Amino acid sequence: MGKLKVVVDRIICEGIGPCAEETKYIELDRKHKAVILEPGKDKEKVMEEAQKLKRQEVILDLTPEEEEEIFRAAEACPVKAIFIYDPDTGEQLYP
Ligand code: SF4
Repeated sequence: MGKLKVVVDRIICEGIGPCAEETKYIELDRKHKAVILEPGKDKEKVMEEAQKLKRQEVILDLTPEEEEEIFRAAEACPVKAIFIYDPDTGEQLYP
């Protein structure tokens, strides 16, 4: 397992959607904006809390396959609204 900090900029996000097709960790809310689902937290609550945020930041503990999915999701975003960081060093890994 590896950790990634995943950020969705909800101002940039235009709700176009391909990110959500790449990973189970991202779904679209009722405004068609991307929300990062937080394991162990109630989905509806996460969706509700995300409504108040300009940037939603979540540290995810991922298998190598899931890490690849997160990168694919970020790469699929046509407006580059998804950012990925190393949570230990703060290094920006994408874009
Ligand atoms: S692909 Fe980008 S613009 Fe579309 S919902 Fe996902 S984050 Fe938002």
